[in-house]
Amino acid sequence: MTSAKLQQDLLNADESIQYDAIVIGCGVIGPCVATALARKGKKVLIVERDWNMPDRIVGELMQPGGLRALRSLGMIQSINNIDAYPITGYTVFYNGEKVVIPYSYKQDVGPVEKIDGLVFDGNDKVLNDKYVTIKDYEDDERERGVAFVHGRFLQNLRNIVSKEKNITRLQGNATEILKSTKDNEVIGCKIDIETRGKVDFKAHMTFVCDGIFSRFRKELSADHVPKVQSSFIGMSLYDAVTPTKYNGHVILGPQHLPILVYQLSPNETRILCAYNDAKTPQDIKSWMKEDVQPFIPKSLRPSFDKALEEKKFRSMPNSYLPAKQNDITGLCFIGDSLNMRHPLTGGGMTVGLNDVVLLIKKIGDLDFADRETVLDELLDFHYDKKKYDCVINVLSIALFSLFAAESKNLKILQRGCFKYFQRGGDCVKLPIEFLSGLRPSPLMLTKVFFAVALYSVYINFEKRGALGFPLALLEGISILYTAAVVFAPYLFGELIG
Ligand SMILES: Cc1cc2nc3c(=O)[nH]c(=O)nc-3n(C[C@H](O)[C@H](O)[C@H](O)COP(=O)(O)OP(=O)(O)OC[C@H]3O[C@@H](n4cnc5c(N)ncnc54)[C@H](O)[C@@H]3O)c2cc1C
Repeated sequence: MTSAKLQQDLLNADESIQYDAIVIGCGVIGPCVATALARKGKKVLIVERDWNMPDRIVGELMQPGGLRALRSLGMIQSINNIDAYPITGYTVFYNGEKVVIPYSYKQDVGPVEKIDGLVFDGNDKVLNDKYVTIKDYEDDERERGVAFVHGRFLQNLRNIVSKEKNITRLQGNATEILKSTKDNEVIGCKIDIETRGKVDFKAHMTFVCDGIFSRFRKELSADHVPKVQSSFIGMSLYDAVTPTKYNGHVILGPQHLPILVYQLSPNETRILCAYNDAKTPQDIKSWMKEDVQPFIPKSLRPSFDKALEEKKFRSMPNSYLPAKQNDITGLCFIGDSLNMRHPLTGGGMTVGLNDVVLLIKKIGDLDFADRETVLDELLDFHYDKKKYDCVINVLSIALFSLFAAESKNLKILQRGCFKYFQRGGDCVKLPIEFLSGLRPSPLMLTKVFFAVALYSVYINFEKRGALGFPLALLEGISILYTAAVVFAPYLFGELIG
């Protein structure tokens, strides 16, 4: 199809149809919701304001838990043929020392669930390409993640959408959620279309997947507003020599904020440097020279130094937003429009995709015209998703507090955390399972977090020696209190909210 014809096709959606579902946004989550519903026989309209390949520095490393969700949806082949790069685990640096933490064994996690009607013709298995192979992803005994150029992954998801016969694609800007005058229930949305102006589209259900800067999330509640306290400043490194091939790298230390490095494609590596403010520094290059460059591992320095000279900096705010219950008839928020966490642990897509799996299992077989039954299921969805999402969300916030340590206690916890990883065995197995979305157990997360805190206290005792015992005792109480303060309110908020 020529691009002019394609462009025209994207503007033609029929507004006289009553759709089963309108999906707003074709980023990461929108295409998965639309495809899953279409495969369940629903008539779907998906609206995206720009179908061209986006160029963003978000959503580039997918954890094994996210890949398992793509398999359940029959969409795993979206990581094929985009030069995506395998990820086998993490390397954590602390003050020059390092620990390599591989992802879990498949046998410890169990089989992937295949959703009825969505998985067919082997679409839950990867295809062979140059970097993603059946041997590595299907036959290996360990789980794998993957890193990719975000826009290329999105184009693959969008290609899958384009092949579903029950989906109509539309290019336009959703400007308003439409409500019935009688009972204020959602009946569709208004779309601003380049050649047609503002047009009303009707559906039994409207799914809002409009992402981090969602214009609609306030419909759920006026206080559904993200908290932004830090940002990531990113650069692309070219032909970088990463310290551990096929690993995500987390560079930590008491004198600097966390730095993430992961290879996205054969020649591009992403570096994301945390900055403790929503507003980035005025002179980014000077800040990078002072607060980042000295801590970059040696093998990365040539590509880092080159990128620094080119000054192609990009930044994104790091937002935190606990989920709210979808309690409006005809409306469902999912993905970043509903729930966000710190991107430090690369868990956003994994949470969103697992929410899609759960959502489809709950409502995929319902008749959307029966909106009350759908609403009942959506009310439950809020509670059912907590167990999985809470672990990734709370972990991301707690780890960022530790790794961006400013206070003495947090620095002790940071060091204790690294020493805990160095013990190996369960001390790395459980944390990597939480991070990669393979162990949805808030109770176990709490146990491990406080085990880390106690270990930090123990290390501090060792450091103080016999003479320093009384001081270490007082510090120990204070460290445990700090650990509780960075962890408990978030856990409580996620579980109770
Ligand atoms: C700095 C940073 C790094 C991150 N890194 C990772 C990572 O490595 N791994 C990970 O798993 N997660 C990561 N995340 C989180 C991840 O990017 C998100 O969780 C994920 O993109 C959410 O998907 P979504 O579909 O909800 O939103 P998006 O992917 O943002 O998609 C929203 C879509 O809606 C469209 N849209 C918006 N408004 C309208 C409108 N009014 N009308 C029509 N269309 C509209 C947009 O054009 C877009 O295509 C990161 C986040 C940040 C901030």
